[in-house]
Amino acid sequence: MPAQRYKWLFFDLDGTLWDFDSNSEYTLQLLIRQLTPALVDHEAEFLAAYRHYNDFLWIEYGEGRISKEELRWKRFHEVFRQFGLDNRPLAEEFGEKYISISPYQTRVVEHTFEVLDYLKQKEYHLYLLTNGFTEIQHIKTTQSGLAPYFEKVFTSDESGYKKPHKSAFDYAIKYVNARKRESLMIGDEWPIDVLGARQAGIDQVYFNTRKKPAGCPVTYEISNLLELKQIL
Ligand SMILES: [Mg+2]
Repeated sequence: MPAQRYKWLFFDLDGTLWDFDSNSEYTLQLLIRQLTPALVDHEAEFLAAYRHYNDFLWIEYGEGRISKEELRWKRFHEVFRQFGLDNRPLAEEFGEKYISISPYQTRVVEHTFEVLDYLKQKEYHLYLLTNGFTEIQHIKTTQSGLAPYFEKVFTSDESGYKKPHKSAFDYAIKYVNARKRESLMIGDEWPIDVLGARQAGIDQVYFNTRKKPAGCPVTYEISNLLELKQIL
């Protein structure tokens, strides 16, 4: 067997392996039926408005303008208001239930287990490097069956640095005593996973599921996880 170019593989979790979009959508549909049945007939518009406003609030949170607690209810409160439901307690209940239910959803991205089995069999060291909250990411990885594949899950909660910050990558590399030139970061968001790894001096795989061109040079680009078998 020829010598392997890489030894240490760092995977993003949400949207790369754990199917964030379909798990989130399923949870929102469930909660609409339970808590806001008046919105059932407007589900598609509600989901679109929620995604838009949630993205905006995550930026606000990332820049320190709102807290984690505010993010969790405000994203529903504002969208409810757009549909004529001005009810903060309801938004808080919706937000709490969303956080408690969605991590237990188990849909993974197509071919996840096939590729992880392949990489494990080839004796790569596998890690997760994610910006999520530690307790939530732990539930997702154990419930979905991903946890046994990974030697460690690095979260921004633990290191104190969020991707794309170079220190988020440096922390993980140092922790597992990896060599950067033999490490590879695989993720679905180029400004976070690809640009961050690049700035830290680590090769990257851009898992471009949404056909968004990367705004920086990329070591490899794939649109299906199976393509990793050609690289690794
Ligand atoms: Mg992601």
